[in-house]
Amino acid sequence: MSGDMLFRGPSDLHTHSRVSDGTESPSRLVREAAAAGLGAVALTDHDSTAGWHEASGEAQKQNITFIPGMEFSTRYGYKSVHLLAYLFDPLSADLVAETARIRESRLKRAESIVRRIGVDYDLDWDDVLAQTTPGATVGRPHIADALVARGHVPTRSEAFTGILHPRNGYYLPHYAPDPLLAVTLVRRAGGVPVIAHPATRGRDAMIDEQHLSQLVDAGLFGLEIDHRENTDDGKVRLRELAKKFGLVLTGSSDYHGAGKPNRLGENTTADEVLQAIINEGTGSSPVYPGAR
Ligand code: AMP
Ligand code: FE
Ligand code: FE
Ligand code: ZN
Repeated sequence: MSGDMLFRGPSDLHTHSRVSDGTESPSRLVREAAAAGLGAVALTDHDSTAGWHEASGEAQKQNITFIPGMEFSTRYGYKSVHLLAYLFDPLSADLVAETARIRESRLKRAESIVRRIGVDYDLDWDDVLAQTTPGATVGRPHIADALVARGHVPTRSEAFTGILHPRNGYYLPHYAPDPLLAVTLVRRAGGVPVIAHPATRGRDAMIDEQHLSQLVDAGLFGLEIDHRENTDDGKVRLRELAKKFGLVLTGSSDYHGAGKPNRLGENTTADEVLQAIINEGTGSSPVYPGAR
């Protein structure tokens, strides 16, 4: 191993704060990351960079490395594809416009879902607002939390398998760009795109090889392999695809605070892989321990 890495691991490259659908503030999340023994953490809120400033300030206090990131919502046909993006320029105009469009559509969609649920259950928009911090990227998890607060379901997870599941008729999609556009925008902003949890069970299962090859041509850099929702068979396939297309493989928790059972550091990314991501990213910089 070369001696010139500016960070130390272990590294968790996929986490969510209250800026999207996590339950902790960015600074609390970073404190918890340090307490969990992590040496580096990326904040990857859905479609937003609004937590970067707070998280990077706390990382300096905690003496751990902060990697700026985001989980970009995209859609391929009926399939939702999540694209992790690291070290991009948060002021890149095209990227900012696209994520603003997604967040606005998410807001309208959530209001519509709540109106539909409100026909059958005691629930209104104020219940959801009470679960959301101002400016946050709104998603079904906030509706789930409102359903829990109203006593309609016991947990966020049970809201997802029940009332919020598409089969139950309240679900609506939101606008999301094609993955190819998202990869292109991230690269143009100097960022490093990695597909999140690409091998989950069911509806959003495994990306096909021909499509993957297009994304690689557009600049895709990696695949998130070590994630609790990837299946064992899927991980075998991801390893083959990474080798074939020259992609890096990452691992992470997808921590959402109390919103999901995922714990910080339950999966981590190899130091040399994070170094490769850092070498590739030019739109923003990691914040290293001891930096001023
Ligand atoms: P949305 O993007 O608004 O459709 O909501 C999807 C988000 O809900 C994902 O980013 C997950 O974080 C979260 N989510 C999905 N399934 C579950 C579940 N079973 N329990 C808790 N959170 C979930
Ligand atoms: Fe989420
Ligand atoms: Fe995701
Ligand atoms: Zn996530």
